[in-house]
Amino acid sequence: MTVDVTKPYDPDNIFAKILRGEIPSKKVYEDEWSYAFYDINAQAKTHILIVPKGAYVSWDDFSTKASAEEIAGFVRAVGKVARDSDLVEPGYRLLANVGHHAGQEVPHLHVHLFGGEPLGPMIAR
Ligand code: 5GP
Repeated sequence: MTVDVTKPYDPDNIFAKILRGEIPSKKVYEDEWSYAFYDINAQAKTHILIVPKGAYVSWDDFSTKASAEEIAGFVRAVGKVARDSDLVEPGYRLLANVGHHAGQEVPHLHVHLFGGEPLGPMIAR
């Protein structure tokens, strides 16, 4: 089921549980603002999810309500994870699905980081 991003944040969503350590994840990176872990169903050789630690449903919610510190911290974390994964020179793709048309399934903002191989067309239909 896809996410209605206009609804309030659900603290029982799966990524909130991962952030609280209630369910396991394969950690890639963590700092004050962000947590990164491997996607359970990788769609590319490298497929990492980066989430802000704050309670934000989507990019829309985050870009509206997050503090400048949270936004800067999160954006820097995404860049650092890609850099530390040696993806800058070969290249990588970032994706944040927002709501129904994009197929967002987890109601906690996450950026997908894909890389490690050529990634094909920008949009698959
Ligand atoms: P969305 O469609 O919301 O942009 O992407 C959700 C992503 O979360 C999917 O790629 C899916 O494989 C991943 N995912 C869902 N549940 C879990 C989980 O419990 N652990 C991990 N590591 N990834 C998950």
